[in-house]
Amino acid sequence: MRGVVFDGKQIQVVDDLEVREPGAGEVLVAISAAGLCHSDLSVVDGTIPFPVPVVLGHEGAGVVEAVGVGVTHVAPGDHVALSTLANCGTCAECDRGRPTMCRQAIGRPGKPFTRGGQPVYQFASNSAFAERTVVKAVQAVRIPKDIPMPSAALIGCGVLTGVGAVLNRARVDRGESVVVIGTGGIGLNVIQGARIAGASRIVAVDANPAKEETARKFGATDFLKSTEGVRDLLPTGADHVFECVGRVELVRQAVDLLDRHGQAILLGTAPATAEASFLVSSMFLDKSILGCRYGSSRPQRDIPLYTELYRQGRLLLDELVTRTYPVEDFEKAVGDLEAGRVARGVLTF
Ligand SMILES: [Zn+2]
Ligand SMILES: [Zn+2]
Repeated sequence: MRGVVFDGKQIQVVDDLEVREPGAGEVLVAISAAGLCHSDLSVVDGTIPFPVPVVLGHEGAGVVEAVGVGVTHVAPGDHVALSTLANCGTCAECDRGRPTMCRQAIGRPGKPFTRGGQPVYQFASNSAFAERTVVKAVQAVRIPKDIPMPSAALIGCGVLTGVGAVLNRARVDRGESVVVIGTGGIGLNVIQGARIAGASRIVAVDANPAKEETARKFGATDFLKSTEGVRDLLPTGADHVFECVGRVELVRQAVDLLDRHGQAILLGTAPATAEASFLVSSMFLDKSILGCRYGSSRPQRDIPLYTELYRQGRLLLDELVTRTYPVEDFEKAVGDLEAGRVARGVLTF
């Protein structure tokens, strides 16, 4: 079968990939569509260290092809969106509703694929850039069949991460002010999460003025090319500032823009050794800096909520998909993403 493999040096679209049958508690999914996210490229440029060879891709949707022993919540033919969270479901963190903190769900990459008899790693417990992949049952979330697959594919990373950061981690409340730095795939989902939460002012910041129209469509009330104008709009600062780029100077700006009791939520992926600084005295006014893994999501609860909001017209998914590409055009999709020509490019199988 076809898939996108990174061998440590180059990325290749191959057609000689194989995947094993689902074991107990696992689901075999035929991928229909998969979004290309910066994290896939972060594996290639080393920002996210990962063993190779590896099948890339971590946000996808498809059709259940087979289920292993003990899987009862989905059946062959069901449409599913895939999460990257291979949490165990039985530890104390899972039990208290924090599956993103499950120690089973971090690290420990599996090798369900082979190529020429050699094992190939699975990225983010997912590897959606393959015609078929095997995931843990907990990662396959049934979705209504009327949701277009390219749109559903984006739920598993961009939507869970961005909307989840607003609703689950920051817990933005009605009437609050929100600044979103960076309006790529994650930033747009933060913007619409803030709109769904009822934020009264949503200021989008992006150096690329071409992003304004989309940012406003998702719910931004204001658009700025840099954070410099934020104080004109919010003289006492913002209740929530989301950094969605991963640059330390923007992290500092996020902290400096906080109102009393404000919180900076760090979503961008900075290099592993990057350090940021802030004025210690500024934190005295009940300010917080929050990390956030994967939108602090609970996928089996959050994905049905998001698909329902989509059907009500409150959560935009179709508008996130700028372009679809057959998987063979992977390189073109990467070029468009790196040039900022697409919010999200989606590969189809
Ligand atoms: Zn991603
Ligand atoms: Zn667990």
